Amino acid sequence: ARYEVFSTVMRTQIVSRLELENELRRAIANLTTGKSQEFIVFYQPIISLQTGKIVGFESLIRWQPPGKFISPADFIPLAEETGLIIPLGEWILKESCRQLKTWQEQFSLTSPLSLSVNLSSQQFSQPDLTERIEQILDETKLDGHTLKLEITESMAMQNVETTITTILRLKALNLRFSIDDFGTGYSSLSYLHRFPVDTLKVDRSFVSRMEDSSENLAIVQTVIMLSHKLGMDVVAEGVEKVSQMEILRELGCEYGQGYYFSKPLNSEAATALLAEQPQW
Ligand code: C2E
Ligand code: CA
Ligand code: CA
Ligand code: CA
Repeated sequence: ARYEVFSTVMRTQIVSRLELENELRRAIANLTTGKSQEFIVFYQPIISLQTGKIVGFESLIRWQPPGKFISPADFIPLAEETGLIIPLGEWILKESCRQLKTWQEQFSLTSPLSLSVNLSSQQFSQPDLTERIEQILDETKLDGHTLKLEITESMAMQNVETTITTILRLKALNLRFSIDDFGTGYSSLSYLHRFPVDTLKVDRSFVSRMEDSSENLAIVQTVIMLSHKLGMDVVAEGVEKVSQMEILRELGCEYGQGYYFSKPLNSEAATALLAEQPQW
């Protein structure tokens, strides 16, 4: 009887995975035909801890099939396994670049607003990634320097030499790079200096534990100091409280992102937030 219960659960999981995969396939096919728009790019502000101003946003994809909301944590891995992340990721990049260009034209900023876009592992290893991004920059007339690509620490560590080559190729387009979720992969401290990246994003788990003990605080402090020594700036992820923001600012962390400042917003709400910003 126990076996049967187990297999029923497994069967349900397999069926729902297949259903989700089919639904994802259909939704992505609709992207290119311009039919119903189920994917929406949300934008979460990245704030200068010195000035309190918005310096940029991170693009975060949302999927809302009729009557549902599916978290990226649930469909991005599936999109990755099935290769569907390639067309979806390209659409996210194009949509993000279009939005950034619109904002740059709409608001005259003293230092141009930047946008960070997450690259999946499959995208990152696409042989023609540089050409595809170059084409998107051409189409949207965006200055490559204002686009930042986020690759996770674990992606970067999979094959260090290949990672470096790929980053350098994309840097020829003037693009900038962040190492995302830093601290969650296996220790890459000894490799960090080899990656030609601009920014390090300290994972939310470190920020949330920072106030628990002096050891946890020391870890964040060390990561910030090391990044600066290596010529990178630092974004702290998942800042939820004013106390965290204050500690990070004192530690010399340049930027913060998190619910304390703002949740990810749709295009309209993000535009309204930008419009509210005092003098640029
Ligand atoms: P991530 O790249 O580390 O993105 C940050 C996640 O933390 C986002 O979750 C964001 O909504 C959430 N977050 C931001 N501030 C806070 C906070 O103060 N507290 C808490 N608890 N959470 C916060 P989201 O949007 O659900 O995305 C989850 C993950 O899915 C992302 O993690 C990223 O790995 C992936 N993802 C999202 N959008 C994309 C995309 O367009 N392309 C790719 N390849 N992956 C994406
Ligand atoms: Ca990210
Ligand atoms: Ca992250
Ligand atoms: Ca994450």
